[in-house]
Amino acid sequence: MAVYLLLLGGPGAGKGTQADVLCQEFQLPHVASGDLFRDNLKRATPLGQLAKQYMDRGELVPDDVTIKMIRERLQQPDAKNGALLDGFPRTVPQAQALDALLAEFGGKVTTVLYIKVGETALLDRLSGRWICRGAQQHAYHLLFNPPKVAGKCDVDGTELYQRADDTAEVQARRIKVFMEQTAPLISFYQQRGELREVDGEQSIQAVTEALRAGVKAATAK
Ligand SMILES: [Zn+2]
Repeated sequence: MAVYLLLLGGPGAGKGTQADVLCQEFQLPHVASGDLFRDNLKRATPLGQLAKQYMDRGELVPDDVTIKMIRERLQQPDAKNGALLDGFPRTVPQAQALDALLAEFGGKVTTVLYIKVGETALLDRLSGRWICRGAQQHAYHLLFNPPKVAGKCDVDGTELYQRADDTAEVQARRIKVFMEQTAPLISFYQQRGELREVDGEQSIQAVTEALRAGVKAATAK
């Protein structure tokens, strides 16, 4: 039976890094909804053009358009043994639509991996990013990779600044939206006994280990 893994985690939870490792180990394509959108828009596929009409009007792309993109992606030969889904579903109705889609393929969600990182830790990770005004835009992190001299680039001595998107206010808002939106989805999968919560505040390697063990346990059933 095909393996469908769902990966959940807030902004800054390290989902991308972990997705790469899991996809390689379990030989599954990484189906990230954001990439899927960009790809359909870029190739101007019928679904991409449809999505663009909504986006041009400043509206959300309806779930059925997104689901169709996912259906097409999961029908590609590299997804015949399953896939790792990232960024979809985000809501309970999307989760229900995904169930129906996987049922079409004679499959179902194998397990839902949730990389859990508290709001404070997410904010520390996301709001500590500063970059230099030099041509190379060297990146620093106040907690994890601070410059030797506060506010100055180690390499070229230019001033460090924060992108508007990286400020604590903007990131706190992003995290809050994620938490509010995801809570019902997490209970949905928890109630079905499909959720595997992994402590995302451990080292990257320890998180990988825990996720790997989760997939193995789910696929051994
Ligand atoms: Zn620099």
